[in-house]
Amino acid sequence: MNAYKLLTPGPLTTTDTVKQEMLFDHCTWDDDYKRITLDIRKKLLQLAHADAATYTVVLMQGSGTFGVESVLSSVVGDEDKLLIVANGAYGERMEDIAKHGSIPYTIYKEAYHRIPSAEKIEAILRDDTAITHVAMVHSETTTGILNDIKAVGEVVKKFGRTFIVDAMSSFGGVDIDVEAMGIDFIISSANKCIQGVPGFSFIICNKGALEKSQGKARSLSLDLYDQYKTMDKDGKWRFTSPTHTVLAFYKALEELDAEGGIAQREIRYRENNQLLIEGMKALGIEAYITDHQGPIITTFLYPASSNFSFDEMYTFIKARGYAIYPGKVTEADTFRIGNIGEIYKDDILNVTAIIKEFLATKEDDYGTH
Ligand SMILES: *Cc1c(COP(=O)(O)O)cnc(C)c1O
Repeated sequence: MNAYKLLTPGPLTTTDTVKQEMLFDHCTWDDDYKRITLDIRKKLLQLAHADAATYTVVLMQGSGTFGVESVLSSVVGDEDKLLIVANGAYGERMEDIAKHGSIPYTIYKEAYHRIPSAEKIEAILRDDTAITHVAMVHSETTTGILNDIKAVGEVVKKFGRTFIVDAMSSFGGVDIDVEAMGIDFIISSANKCIQGVPGFSFIICNKGALEKSQGKARSLSLDLYDQYKTMDKDGKWRFTSPTHTVLAFYKALEELDAEGGIAQREIRYRENNQLLIEGMKALGIEAYITDHQGPIITTFLYPASSNFSFDEMYTFIKARGYAIYPGKVTEADTFRIGNIGEIYKDDILNVTAIIKEFLATKEDDYGTH
């Protein structure tokens, strides 16, 4: 198999040093291992600008969706009501979770190319006083749009409701002051902007809100409160922990620091994202999002040419060392290119050059207008 780098929004390309950490089979009840879990939780609190007196961190086995499902099914009680704000597939997945768990909810859907409006959310909260919790996605990976969680957070706090944010593809790559934004639960996973490998998600929780969820969980293995109570004792996970992933993540956190923290990583992501969008534009390929494009992943419209085939382009690019992503927007033909992970300026220049080469071969094939 030819190696390739991932230009996808997670799993993403990790460093060799992160991968090397997984060559050791660690004992789960060993003190060294438990200390690593405790250190990871402490470090995540710092990255979130959250105080240990008011916030805590819970790690949860599984992919990112397990983390979102853990929060929604554990903290929204049968007497509560959840407002889901959705402008993409990940927001809509929260509705799926609510349906499966019989969680009382209502949903505000916004067009995929627009950010949800804080004013509309304010009006919904004013009209429907039964709503107790509001959940939304920060970086909607479906399109790459970056939603305004600060403006929404202000509204949610004004009404004294609980605020849940899926920051899966932004935490670690975009600076988020969790405490200042009034976020009660923020969810991300090991294999996104922290640049670890898949295997667990993490939730930064307001302690008061978490305490209130005791006994509400609809699932045993995804019980957020129970996971917290066990993990908080001495760092031991409830049920088998993904040891190799945890070790890799610990290393990835160290490497995030070495890069200069979230601020520096955000600059790298933003610069590469800008370079990508400009490079594609020069090839006649336009970004789907025009306002509020985030620095994580970009959705591109298919080029105008009638003989364009995404599958052909994917294979062509893969043979030259990169894997890209199909589109997820239903109303337009699109594909996506992510720029998070161990991706640098040269990679962006390489991939745009490969795409240019691909488009040129198409002209040779069919260029007899
Ligand atoms: C990646 C991602 C998830 C989680 O997806 P998994 O496939 O379960 O890891 C959830 N929300 C957003 C916005 C994501 O980007």
